[in-house]
Amino acid sequence: MPPTPSTPQAAPDVAAEAARRRTFAVISHPDAGKSTLTEALALHARVIGEAGAVHGKSGRRAVISDWMEMEQARGISVTSAALQFEYAGHVVNLLDTPGHADFSEDTYRVLAAVDCAVMLLDAAKGLEPQTLKLFDVCRHRGVPVVTFINKWDRPGMHPLDLVDELEQRIGLRATPVNWPVGEAGVFHGLLDRNDETLTTFERAPGGARIAVEATLAAAEAKERHPDEWDTALDEVALLDDVDTESFLAGQTTPLLFGAGVVNVGVRQLLDTLVSLAPAPEARPDADGRPRPVDAPFSGLVFKVQAGMDKAHRDRLAFVRVCSGRFERGAVVTHAATGRPFATKYARTMLGRERETIDIAYPGDIVGLVNANALTVGDTLYADGAPVSFPPMPSFAPEHFVTARTTDTGKAKQFRRGIEQLAEEGVVQILQSARRGDGAPILAAVGPLQFEVATTRLSQEFGVPVALDNLPYGLARRTDPDAVAVLDAEAGVEVAERRDGALLALFPDTWRLASVRRRHPDIRLAPLVAGA
Ligand code: GDP
Repeated sequence: MPPTPSTPQAAPDVAAEAARRRTFAVISHPDAGKSTLTEALALHARVIGEAGAVHGKSGRRAVISDWMEMEQARGISVTSAALQFEYAGHVVNLLDTPGHADFSEDTYRVLAAVDCAVMLLDAAKGLEPQTLKLFDVCRHRGVPVVTFINKWDRPGMHPLDLVDELEQRIGLRATPVNWPVGEAGVFHGLLDRNDETLTTFERAPGGARIAVEATLAAAEAKERHPDEWDTALDEVALLDDVDTESFLAGQTTPLLFGAGVVNVGVRQLLDTLVSLAPAPEARPDADGRPRPVDAPFSGLVFKVQAGMDKAHRDRLAFVRVCSGRFERGAVVTHAATGRPFATKYARTMLGRERETIDIAYPGDIVGLVNANALTVGDTLYADGAPVSFPPMPSFAPEHFVTARTTDTGKAKQFRRGIEQLAEEGVVQILQSARRGDGAPILAAVGPLQFEVATTRLSQEFGVPVALDNLPYGLARRTDPDAVAVLDAEAGVEVAERRDGALLALFPDTWRLASVRRRHPDIRLAPLVAGA
């Protein structure tokens, strides 16, 4: 289909501003070092000043974003949604993803709002379950992936074994940007593949600042570390050079080594993102038509959260600007309802202050307060230039409970609260004909989501809630004419999701297989993450 034409009122600087943006998220298994790397990246861009003081997180409540923790620990203000900084003439937007696997559904949604992902691996562990899941989502959504092997300051796997693992387990060919000289743990520096220099690092006093880097020419590097230098050259020669086309196509991954905690390799990662990661591009709308970045303003709501002020039960919506120039104060249209939405109170929470944001460009993240009408997946657009982006996918839940309020006088508040949590995407809500309106099924990717739901229902809505576990572990999508047959099967229940999808719930894959054998004609389609 032809692209939507740009209109003359689009500001001429939009395309140039979009071109210098890099919007990405870090995906990793918990403890690989995401928070540490985030601080180190921001430090390099001089937003935070000095990294390092707080890396421990014992006793951390998993529901608290690491970034909120950083904010408290340092008295700085970073949003729990995005951190923005300038680097080398570019504007970098780093979107936060929750650390705990139970909140991976939030991460999936964030991946709908980025142009690139950094896959962070622990050098001693390689690919871990959560990394694999998130990588699948990237692949599904066509998000290109840069790989950063972290914790190279201590013993780990052999670099070639890590490369093998990437290729064997996820079919991703690694193309090194740099290569370690010396083994993990006894490490002399990074061979820069581009110009065959060695970057050495010296820990700054206290280890809290940017590592002091020195660059040695090849001859000097060889003189200092003759064997290790030759080994590094030999090893890296086995692997292909970085290739932009296959990287963007998801076939190769630029590979870097480093150690976030001592700021090693962090500059190289930023340089790689700036030079290789894609800038915001035309985004396909719900009809598959690409909307150019210089078309009038449009944005996608990818995260909704309860406002900080509990008394007002305000909702904060985070919007990724997809096209055009966002100007605070402009009245935009909410595609789902056709109603106007005032952006007078747009916020960014970057740098030291929660600031009001006046202008934002494609790739930037804007926080909108008073966003009670907005839900995850919604589109906003400038008047006169309607667009809807495809709905945000819902992910395959693996945990199911029924919820009811123990205070019968609060049925109304209970329903309202449940509705609100569903709109925010805290949990998925299913209705089953077997259970009344007062006992919806809550479905989640991870059980901590239920904890958040019950805490919020009691604190924000004053509704005491009891949950009962349901003996299901997986859901499959089915059709209306199969409901009666499936509901008659022992251990199987069919429920309707808010988006109208019919989900058949099964205890396990064995039960699913036996139902399939008996009813080969019934559609039982997997709910693929990202589908
Ligand atoms: P997250 O769960 O992925 O956010 O991980 P954190 O950033 O909280 O780091 C988990 C642990 O790994 C902490 O104890 C960090 O100090 C440690 N860590 C992070 N980066 C490095 C690194 O480059 N080298 C070493 N040795 N430890 C690291």
